[in-house]
Amino acid sequence: MKYERQRQEMVRNQIEARGIKAPAVLAAFRSVPRHLFVSEALRDQAYGDYPLPIGEQQTISQPYIVAEMTQALDLAEDDRILEIGTGSGYQAAILAQIVYRVYTVERKRSLFLQARNLFDKLYYHNIVMKYADGTKGWQDESPFDGIIVTAGAPQIPDVLIDQLAEDGRLVVPVGNQHTQELIKISRDGQQIRQTRLGGCRFVKLVGEHGWKEA
Ligand code: SAH
Repeated sequence: MKYERQRQEMVRNQIEARGIKAPAVLAAFRSVPRHLFVSEALRDQAYGDYPLPIGEQQTISQPYIVAEMTQALDLAEDDRILEIGTGSGYQAAILAQIVYRVYTVERKRSLFLQARNLFDKLYYHNIVMKYADGTKGWQDESPFDGIIVTAGAPQIPDVLIDQLAEDGRLVVPVGNQHTQELIKISRDGQQIRQTRLGGCRFVKLVGEHGWKEA
């Protein structure tokens, strides 16, 4: 099948070639049908080396950046992971292939509903969704082994650090509205370590602890 072949090529040429090595991460990218997470008109471009529009002026990230953020979370099989910014649902589906349970929050109703339909159709029973402002995290389900923010934040939201497990990891793009840097926070008890993973470009994280609505 055409998309199957394109997907294996994407993993080889964009993800493995740039140094992603975690076997579970590579296996997830080999199996999740990315073309189903974009509109029909864009299916043939789904495995290209770029982001694509998903409606509501939002985007599904470039495959490599999804892989880089996924690997940075240092996932274990029994992890519970929180994602802020469901969007197309692709990143959540990749995580759901690897970990025990994924919690994902989206603030745009149409994207939330679309992703919910797709998760049902593809039988992702370990993804739990919420239609809400994700900058507040998900207090009731915390602490999380990992938190991934897939929209650009003006600063690291402290509330999210508070919802990390004792050895939790947070990956978040931080910067201005045009360009950000990918930051990884690793918690070790009361100790917080910060690593910079390089430049990136995301749509705005909008909410109480993010950018204010225009
Ligand atoms: N992870 C997504 C990327 C989507 S783009 C994917 O794989 O396709 C970022 C998404 O974050 C958008 O859908 C946007 O609506 C959402 N978003 C922005 N601010 C948010 C907030 N405060 N809470 C929840 N979602 C938010």
